[in-house]
Amino acid sequence: VFQLSVPLNFLGSVYRELRQSLLDMETLFNLQKVNVSISESPTAKPLALPKGGEIKFENVTFGYYPDQPILRNLSLTIPAGKKVAIVGPSGCGKSTLLRLLFRSYDVQSGRILIDDQDIRSIKLDSLRRAIGVVPQDTPLFNDTVEHNIRYGNLDAPPEAVIAAAQRAHIHDKILSFRDGYQTMVGERGLMISGGEKQRLAMSRLLLKDPPLLFFDEATSALDTHTEQALMADVNGILKDKRRTSVFVAHRLRTIFDADLIIVLKEGHVEEMGGHRELLEQGGLYAALWRAQEMLHHKEEEEGEQEADQ
Ligand code: ATP
Repeated sequence: VFQLSVPLNFLGSVYRELRQSLLDMETLFNLQKVNVSISESPTAKPLALPKGGEIKFENVTFGYYPDQPILRNLSLTIPAGKKVAIVGPSGCGKSTLLRLLFRSYDVQSGRILIDDQDIRSIKLDSLRRAIGVVPQDTPLFNDTVEHNIRYGNLDAPPEAVIAAAQRAHIHDKILSFRDGYQTMVGERGLMISGGEKQRLAMSRLLLKDPPLLFFDEATSALDTHTEQALMADVNGILKDKRRTSVFVAHRLRTIFDADLIIVLKEGHVEEMGGHRELLEQGGLYAALWRAQEMLHHKEEEEGEQEADQ
């Protein structure tokens, strides 16, 4: 019996590893098509974070097609433990930065460093495990709510799954589903709203507890109320632990309190600084802010008029 149980235990851990990497692959696919040429260097080492997670892009040039660069000689630093926002017109390459960091693709020239380690010299699983993403559209697997959250950490006990859901403020909602945590979701199960999906993604992330967090804000708006509640919760979660967090944002109201705002335009850094500083500079950020505020006030007025009628 003893002889048998050892290899079975061993197989168990291999199976877990395998499942975890398959899940990482799914996350990866979600970050869009995988470039098969990504490979791990034979001398790759696990990621170490002596600085606490500083991300540096150094003279990065990249395009999905070599002759059509999306990022052009781009350099920027995301300081460790800070909340940083990346904003800019649609298509300027915000999500591409994230895909490169995740090594869904490799840069054509330049390099990307995390705490001074070139990401090409880091073991892939170690790199991807350190990065948590709340993607624009959270993929749900055809499985129970509980399993969908547990994908963040397959070894988590049920209490930890519940605690994560509570912190992401989705626990009560889950209890209202017919079979609670055992309710099937995904394409063949219960369909849930965009905001609820994001909260499930947050629960997953809380279980994974990665040192580097990315929020890829959905282009299609959640309603303002849902979004504000979600952001308030995200900020609450960020407060209890010093983590590098990056918000790829479309609506500036969700990120104006960031420690640093990086404004991209046509694949280069157009400007960066704090909200006030950028407003005073009167450049692209200030223009985007003014445009969004005008739209916002207009919507508010229209909302009030509708309410009056
Ligand atoms: P948005 O604000 O609209 O989400 P973004 O700034 O995040 O946009 P990216 O998604 O990084 O922009 O895309 C940058 C450019 O690269 C766009 O022109 C886009 O069409 C192109 N692109 C993105 N993904 C791919 C891909 N897999 N293959 C080819 N081109 C792509």
